[in-house]
Amino acid sequence: MIRFEHVTKRYRGTAKPALDDVDFEVQRGEFVFLVGASGSGKSSCLRLILREDLPSEGRIVVLGRDTKSLSNRRTPYFRRHIGSVFQDFRLLPSKTVFQNVAFTLQVIGSSRAFVKQAVPEALELVGLAGMAKRMPHELSGGEQQRVAIARALVNRPQVLLADEPTGNLDPATSVDIMQLLARINASGTTILCATHEANFVDQMQRRVIELKHGQLVRDERHGGYGDRSGIKTLEPQVERGAAAVAALTAVLELQREVSGNATGAVPTPAREGAPASPAPAAEPTGSPQPSEPTAPTAPEPVPAAQDDPRPEPPTAAVPRPDVDVAELGMADRLGLRSNDDEVGPTS
Ligand code: ADP
Ligand code: MG
Repeated sequence: MIRFEHVTKRYRGTAKPALDDVDFEVQRGEFVFLVGASGSGKSSCLRLILREDLPSEGRIVVLGRDTKSLSNRRTPYFRRHIGSVFQDFRLLPSKTVFQNVAFTLQVIGSSRAFVKQAVPEALELVGLAGMAKRMPHELSGGEQQRVAIARALVNRPQVLLADEPTGNLDPATSVDIMQLLARINASGTTILCATHEANFVDQMQRRVIELKHGQLVRDERHGGYGDRSGIKTLEPQVERGAAAVAALTAVLELQREVSGNATGAVPTPAREGAPASPAPAAEPTGSPQPSEPTAPTAPEPVPAAQDDPRPEPPTAAVPRPDVDVAELGMADRLGLRSNDDEVGPTS
């Protein structure tokens, strides 16, 4: 689903590469923690997956597409399969919770009826039913991050990238957010999460990829956080202990839920059925584009999400919804775009 093949990333004007010969593959349905000290290359990895940047050497294949051979024009479609959340939430301050989540769908041209149905479902999924009319400043940090997660998920992406999603939250709230991500993963969404949430990483025992000075130094299927010397501990120790207990409780609860509920515990937003459209569309504004490769980019049909033919990972035992990306072509036919500059088309 996501494959890094000997990826090196050098930023202009820097001596050492931000990523150095990084090689890994993430299968559909996995939950992967990306850990490492600040500056080790975690955000660079996530940006490369989202094609906000291109590798200097090596190859990155995401959802069956080589990010280097994908044209800038096609990038917005590609990104619709990938939700992202960030440390700083990035909500639109002048829009309500509902409007913030609806924004993703409006950019891709979903019908009003679909927005009306999907937004409340997404808000319910993240535990914010009833808060649709609030403004971001009327929410706690944890609630704001939930809105951002709802926005990232409302059009049912196959992959969710989370770049230190709990970096601005207190320990107890962080646990809630991590637990939410675990639930989302249990419903079938592949998750890559860069984090310093060491206790949670230890408790989850999911795959851990550790970067150090841009090099992959560990790829463990059921790993713990590992070296914690790079983590700033601002919280008093007793707080961290409480967070660990809460994390363990959350994980146990989740495990019980997943093993006891064969149909999947997470309600999933309904989808509209519409055929994918190969029609070209205006590039939505506001998101950075990597420089275009020099190869000619003849019009090619919009590739539908491809099923990965490789065997399923062990984590794929959890039931998942089938992925239908057909409705994602709608915006392009409708030619909708937005000039709101705070949120890109795929946020
Ligand atoms: P992390 O997310 O693990 O903190 P980053 O991927 O942000 O690490 O950064 C990895 C390295 O690349 C750091 O040394 C950082 O300074 C450098 N870097 C990141 N982005 C840029 C950029 N746009 N230009 C130059 N250097 C960058
Ligand atoms: Mg970072």
